[in-house]
Amino acid sequence: MANRIEKSEAAWRAELTPEQYAVCRQKGTEPAFTGAYWNTKTPGTYLCACCGQELFGSDAKYDSGTGWPSFWQPVDRDRVATEVDSSFGMIRTEVHCSRCGAHLGHVFPDGPAPTGERYCINSVSLTLRPTGPAKD
Ligand code: FE
Repeated sequence: MANRIEKSEAAWRAELTPEQYAVCRQKGTEPAFTGAYWNTKTPGTYLCACCGQELFGSDAKYDSGTGWPSFWQPVDRDRVATEVDSSFGMIRTEVHCSRCGAHLGHVFPDGPAPTGERYCINSVSLTLRPTGPAKD
């Protein structure tokens, strides 16, 4: 794994958009069906919007019907880390970038085979690096 990236909140606030800061650094959630990637089918790799680490591949992306980009696995297990999130009266598993700590979304145990996992990720936390022509 690449070295951890540590920056002050002021530094993050200066380099991210307000929407990115609210989601990635303050654990916000973009409204469903509003993000850039919930319906994207373009082949490529999704990078952390904050630090550029490769997080998810389009080959593991699927339509979960939730309005957020959903993946059944990260490109590598060590690219993401998780912690228990008990906010909003729910017990959920929060997912963040293992390199810079950016909040990405949550992972749920109701995803498709072969992992059975659903990584429910905010579009604003991601930057798609296409490998070919856009499909949508
Ligand atoms: Fe990151």
